[in-house]
Parts: sequence; structure tokens; C-alpha cells
Amino acid sequence: MKVYDLIIIGAGPAGITAGIYAKNFGLDCLIIGEKTGGLVNAAYKVENYPGIFNLSGKELTQKFLEHQKYLKITSKKERVLHLLRKGARFSISTNKNKYQAKTLILAFGTEVRKIKIKNIERFENKGVSYRIGDNTSFYKNKIVAVIGGANAAVMTAVMLAKQAKKVYLIYRQAKLRADTIWLSRIKKAKNVEIIYKANVVDLKGKSRLEKVVLDNKKQLKVNSLIIEAGSVPNTFLIHDLGIKTNKQGYIKTDKSQATNVKEVFAA
Ligand SMILES: Cc1cc2nc3c(=O)[nH]c(=O)nc-3n(C[C@H](O)[C@H](O)[C@H](O)COP(=O)(O)OP(=O)(O)OC[C@H]3O[C@@H](n4cnc5c(N)ncnc54)[C@H](O)[C@@H]3O)c2cc1C
Repeated sequence: MKVYDLIIIGAGPAGITAGIYAKNFGLDCLIIGEKTGGLVNAAYKVENYPGIFNLSGKELTQKFLEHQKYLKITSKKERVLHLLRKGARFSISTNKNKYQAKTLILAFGTEVRKIKIKNIERFENKGVSYRIGDNTSFYKNKIVAVIGGANAAVMTAVMLAKQAKKVYLIYRQAKLRADTIWLSRIKKAKNVEIIYKANVVDLKGKSRLEKVVLDNKKQLKVNSLIIEAGSVPNTFLIHDLGIKTNKQGYIKTDKSQATNVKEVFAA
């Protein structure tokens, strides 16, 4: 079996950047990532990369792919299921193949943070969604509640406001945590109502979501609820290799991005 110098797991901005550098340093490298672009796909507008100021996350992902093609970086759209150390090599099993590498870069990002709400499982995909990306046409003329208060939630509310009849942005703190540019945009969106210091505690409806219940006893009639309450570290694969994490669960690295396991780096 072919042994790569380097296998990068994850095809988001971190994995693709690692791939670009690996290629420039002449390494025989493979990127394995289930979703090219990773979380960037969910961004309505990316405005904080130099030279890029009015692209959607999906358009930026397209640019990532063009860059990859231009540098002839090999990649596979597969899901890594297991990692194993075999002497000086790593064995990587995906849903389709097996690969071997001398070095690994783990760039598998984060997972959506799920929150505890009564009846949430009942309404998942029946009105309740996580991270909708730029998929807003479905919400045309609907009443939508968004949970969260950082950039992703505010961005989602602004984007939805263009299609939806009404958007509630529900945040547990007294002040939103988004960048000023997004705060000014949400202020201008007349059909967005921000509800501070509130948590959604219960969901009601027959076959689909009809109402969200807040901890201040208020009930809101909605067609949909979107949860953008942040991310948690993706730790699914790290146990296979005994990789150490910090208190928050993120992979511990030194100044050179090396983990506690020799020849395994994280980005
Ligand atoms: C709505 C929204 C808007 C945003 N807007 C901006 C913005 O404007 N500007 C900005 O700088 N940031 C923005 N962000 C944040 C940005 O998207 C993330 O910081 C960035 O994507 C993190 O990159 P990453 O490569 O570390 O991880 P990710 O983007 O999460 O990529 C992880 C990669 O790993 C892959 N993966 C995971 N597990 C496996 C596995 N087992 N096998 C194979 N592959 C796997 C995934 O498929 C993916 O390819 C936004 C985020 C959201 C949710």
C-alpha cells in the first residue's frame, strides 16, 4: 500500500491551508475531508479574508477547490472512521478505503453545539434545524426563531430577515457578541426582534413545530427554530491515538502545532 508523507484529515480552511503548504514543501500529501470548505459553507457572507469581501461561504469553498486543483493537491471526499498507529506509520480507515501515512495533521474542526430543550428530538427536521447555511428560500414568509448571540447566529438572523416574515433572535445574555458590522446590519433589519436574557425551554406543536416556550413564560408562534449556539470540539477520532486535549476538549498542541503523539499535528 502507498505510504503518504502526510495525510490531512479535514477539508475546511485549516485542512486546505495545510494542504497548500504541504504541496509547496514538496510533500506527498493527501487531504481526506467529508465536506470541502467545512463550516465555511454555512457563512452567508465572508468579509474578513484579505482580497475577499463579498463572497458567500459556498463561493469561497469553490475558490478553495480551484486553488487545490491549481496546485494539484490530491483529496478524497470520505469520512475517516478509525486511526491506528502501526510502528512508524498511521493507518487511516474511511467509509470507502484504507490509507497509510508517516505524518498526520488533524484538521477536523468542530461540531454544532446541541442544547437541551424539552421535546427537541420530536421536532428535529420538523421545524428545528441546526446551521442552515444560505438555504433561506424555505423560510420565505415564515416566522422563524434563531437561538444564539454570536456572529453565526446574528448573520443567520440578518440573512433570514430578507426572506422571512418575522425573525426572533433569542439570546441568553444581555448583549449580542457579534462583530460591529453585523450588529449594525441586524439593527437595520426591521422584521428582527431580539429577545435578550431568555432561553427556549420547551417546544410545542402537533406534527410540526408551532410554538417555542421561553423561560420567562412567554410563548412565540413560529414555523421554524434554528439553533446557532456555537460549536464543540470534534473529538470523535482522537481517542484512537490517545491524543490529549485541554479542559475545553480541544486538542493540546505546542508552538509547532504538535500534539502529544509523535508525528501527529493539529490545526
Ligand atoms: C454561519 C457561520 C458563518 C461563519 N462566517 C465566518 C466568516 O465570515 N469569517 C470567518 O473567518 N469565519 C466564519 N465562520 C467560522 C469558520 O467557518 C470556521 O472558523 C472555520 O470553518 C473553521 O475551519 P476548520 O478547517 O478548522 O474546521 P471546519 O470548517 O469545521 O472543517 C472541518 C473539516 O473536517 C471534516 N471532517 C470532520 N470530521 C471528519 C471525519 N471524521 N472524516 C473526514 N472529514 C472530517 C469536515 O467535513 C470539514 O471538511 C462562520 C461559521 C458559521 C457557522
